[in-house]
Amino acid sequence: MSVGTSFRLAFPRKRAGREIYDCVVVGAGPAGLTAAIYLARFGLKTVVVTKDIGGKMAIAPLVDDYPGVPEVPGSRLASLFEAHVRKFGVDIVAGNPMDNLRREGDLWCVETVNGDVFCGYAVIIAIGCEKRKLGVPGEDRLVGKGVSYCAVCDAPFFKDKVVAVVGGGDSALSSAIHLASYAKKVYIIHRRDRFRVFQAYVEKVLNEPKIELLLNTVVVEIIGKDRVEAAKIRNVVSGEERILPIDGVFIEIGSEPPVNILKKIGLELDEKGYIAVKPDMSTNLPGVFAAGDVAGGPCKKRFEQIVVAAAEGALAADSVYHYILSLRKGGEHR
Ligand SMILES: Cc1cc2nc3c(=O)[nH]c(=O)nc-3n(C[C@H](O)[C@H](O)[C@H](O)COP(=O)(O)OP(=O)(O)OC[C@H]3O[C@@H](n4cnc5c(N)ncnc54)[C@H](O)[C@@H]3O)c2cc1C
Repeated sequence: MSVGTSFRLAFPRKRAGREIYDCVVVGAGPAGLTAAIYLARFGLKTVVVTKDIGGKMAIAPLVDDYPGVPEVPGSRLASLFEAHVRKFGVDIVAGNPMDNLRREGDLWCVETVNGDVFCGYAVIIAIGCEKRKLGVPGEDRLVGKGVSYCAVCDAPFFKDKVVAVVGGGDSALSSAIHLASYAKKVYIIHRRDRFRVFQAYVEKVLNEPKIELLLNTVVVEIIGKDRVEAAKIRNVVSGEERILPIDGVFIEIGSEPPVNILKKIGLELDEKGYIAVKPDMSTNLPGVFAAGDVAGGPCKKRFEQIVVAAAEGALAADSVYHYILSLRKGGEHR
């Protein structure tokens, strides 16, 4: 028998007028969307509750390492994932992030910031990570006024302006390349003297005349009254400080797990704050699974890529399927 929507586990579908899902997927990046595809194909009633659709995949300027889809803009790849999920009739509730997860009898209930509640027998947490902040004076005050954490989202606002990208990883370099097609000048401010990134990015950066590297340099303050006007920067070798006039600063210094919400839920975290998962993506909470960038723990090799997040989403969905079968051991199928 092919696995499809005709196969349904015999759980009650409604309780007290409320829709009951087999699985609530939280997050719609590559991990959550892939999980949803597999859950639907396993015949499990699924809803995806998310802040946005596509996650970090959607802001990747160009993805050239997802198998079978070469040189695709991240936003386009995200649309392909979304269309694939929708093909199976899965509900995607976007713009309504999870605020809490609580146990209600035999169900897990996701509470959202809008006050909605989505309950299911299992949950997959695939909420990715948050952009790390610099933590310098002026940063918080000028967010949205020249301080940005997303080049793809905000680059068009900096047409013919002077901007700086802070960071030395793949995200920083790909952001600088993207910004160079709008801004008249792009500085890359990096605290070390070399990059640890894909060589292809380094070559593109070195071949882009609008990009200037400021290595061994850190930002100590972001300056501006109502908008970013400059950054105070320091050379970490000479100790020299100077004011760099800029119109915008893009902070790309990596990401970190959203520990506050994870702790609130009661999930066991590893020493870096990622959800500790077993090889089957299960967590310390029975029926709660995790996948993608937010998942960690000693069994996991970190490699934050779309293909890895998607693979973990598939693994989590398979584990949910077996978990639900075990709940209904010997029970009827229809
Ligand atoms: C600029 C950039 C370029 C990249 N380029 C590449 C590349 O070329 N190739 C590659 O393989 N990888 C690339 N990556 C990495 C890749 O995008 C990530 O590893 C991948 O998207 C992680 O998938 P995820 O599903 O775990 O998390 P995310 O993609 O981060 O998705 C998380 C999802 O959870 C949602 N969410 C967050 N909080 C909540 C909440 N409280 N409640 C509900 N939903 C929530 C978000 O809205 C989002 O939908 C890039 C990343 C960046 C930032």
